[in-house]
Amino acid sequence: MKASTPRVTIWNEYRHERSNPDVQRIYPAGIHEALREGLAPYGFELGTATLDEPEHGLSEEVLAHTDVLVWWGHRAHDEVDEAIVDRVQRRVREGMGLIVLHSGHYSKIFKRFMGTSCALLWREADEKERLWVVKPSHPIAAGLPPYFELEKEEMYGEFFDVPDPDELVLVSWFEGGEVFRSGCAYSRGHGKIFYFRPGHETYPTYYNAHVLRVIANAVRWSADERGAAPRFGNVQPLETIAPKN
Ligand code: ZN
Repeated sequence: MKASTPRVTIWNEYRHERSNPDVQRIYPAGIHEALREGLAPYGFELGTATLDEPEHGLSEEVLAHTDVLVWWGHRAHDEVDEAIVDRVQRRVREGMGLIVLHSGHYSKIFKRFMGTSCALLWREADEKERLWVVKPSHPIAAGLPPYFELEKEEMYGEFFDVPDPDELVLVSWFEGGEVFRSGCAYSRGHGKIFYFRPGHETYPTYYNAHVLRVIANAVRWSADERGAAPRFGNVQPLETIAPKN
């Protein structure tokens, strides 16, 4: 797959923004629209989908025309239909990129791919987060400084119950003292998955230029070219196999 202009679908649960005035103030049109605007300068083909749309906005057709799916969910993970999760999982195995943001660590799709509880420690205390680039040679680190800071964020702390990432790109430190593996890259089947930690709904995190840069880099990384799609199942031999007795 080679996507010179990756087609990106930004999926958002879109519930907090419609029920909590504090969140509404920060993301009046929803986190998905803030991300769409923030990613627009990167030249992707951008679409959005939300939980309350038919099929959660993720029809077969939408997914067939999606190179990278970005996922933000929190309080309504259980409302995501298993059949849609099956569909997303199949597309990722076929090569679609998946970028899971913040509380998406508990989404059905992420837990399925990880096979672990994906549990972690958390605290809401308006604390500073410092994100360190620990793999500067990785494409997702392109253009980033050695570290960057978010003035206020929710804390996520270790232990984060996920399989060891194939590549760890970012590690967070929090003002209260905890650390967290905040940029974790995986491959599953023919697809690439990136988990990126920041983005609690009561903070303006998705307007931060470094945060947007990480997401944009992850879009390119997960949409980039790779080998031919694998084949599975029974096959004929390439050479004549000598009879044996
Ligand atoms: Zn949160």
